[in-house]
Amino acid sequence: MNPQTLFYILIAIIIIKFLFDTYINALNSKHFKDAIPEELKGIYNDNEYLKSQKYKIENYKFSLISSLFSVITTLLFFFLDGFKFVDELARSISNNTIVITLVFFGIIFLASDILSLPFSYYKTFVIEEKFGFNKTSIKTFVLDKLKGWLMLLIVGGGLMAIITWFYELTTTNFWLYTWGVITVFTLFLNLFYSKLIVPIFNKQKPLEDGELRNEIEKFAEKIGFKLDNIFVIDGSKRSTKANAYFSGFGSQKRITLFDTLINDLDTNEIVAVLAHEVGHYKRKHIIYNLILSIGITGLTLYILSLLVGNLTLSQALGVQNPSFHIGLIAFVILYSPISEITNLFMNALSRKFEFQADNYAKENFNPEDLISSLKKLSKNSLSNLTPSNLYVKIHYSHPTLLQRILNLKK
Ligand SMILES: [Zn+2]
Repeated sequence: MNPQTLFYILIAIIIIKFLFDTYINALNSKHFKDAIPEELKGIYNDNEYLKSQKYKIENYKFSLISSLFSVITTLLFFFLDGFKFVDELARSISNNTIVITLVFFGIIFLASDILSLPFSYYKTFVIEEKFGFNKTSIKTFVLDKLKGWLMLLIVGGGLMAIITWFYELTTTNFWLYTWGVITVFTLFLNLFYSKLIVPIFNKQKPLEDGELRNEIEKFAEKIGFKLDNIFVIDGSKRSTKANAYFSGFGSQKRITLFDTLINDLDTNEIVAVLAHEVGHYKRKHIIYNLILSIGITGLTLYILSLLVGNLTLSQALGVQNPSFHIGLIAFVILYSPISEITNLFMNALSRKFEFQADNYAKENFNPEDLISSLKKLSKNSLSNLTPSNLYVKIHYSHPTLLQRILNLKK
């Protein structure tokens, strides 16, 4: 294939993806004012429902403008030979392949992050603020950015350096070594995420003694589950929205509750949420997800290894000598339709897991408290009660509130 043709294939993929996403979002927006289903009546009063519609419309318009901006800057970058420019810049700094790769991705990342900065500022301090969700101070916002960059520099930069080095050393087999390193890193991160990463951004402390802790312990005893690692995190530092999650496995397993969740729900409702999280663990969802994501990574890396050294890939982006970093960029775009399909599959699986976790809570605690907690959480985050079916299939990692309630009442 000649480089020119490949260039236009890449452009076509970017444009088609943008048009498709825009179409699905527009389709979803057609349902913003649908009547609320019978089962969900009473979550919002008329005023709150109106407010939730305004929130949906505002977010929809915002995503339309930000994705339009992003696709236009991406296309400009392609047509103005941006990759060639950054490649030459990186090569002027060093002759070392690893340094060139790091500088190249560093510049691309920093430029795109700075371009998206006004959008994330607007989202947090204008939209979320207007609807009463935002608790982030300017200081936290700036610190989050700096910490994020520093972490990416160390972790992302470190991984990228190792991968480039493997490629230099082994070329065709590099995918195997890379797969090994990423697998070890993924397992490590899964085990120690709460201990190492979370404290950089949040304060967390063990759940205090009291009624809630007693009820949780009573429940844990009933199902025969060792549950001594329950932590409360200061989610209220950034937003009023509430959450809870399970992380780690083996001796490192722990449940994290947002302080906002404890504020919003009563004791039984929190135990119900916890029962749902324990359900994920008991049904081995954490392990399945890990195995699956490791498998997909291996397959992707294998296909990458077949293509990345191809000269056409580099030439399509205006760079005359085959180089790993340019090949990687072209590959990511070329591969994106396939990763869309894997995402579709992963979301479907995740929704299935959510039903299983709900069923676990239903069988081992009770469905009523979970239903009322889900309703409260939806109300407090002004969530969309009437999403379009296609939108749910593509983007939702959880079933809709209606689907979950119907399942819990079954
Ligand atoms: Zn869940």
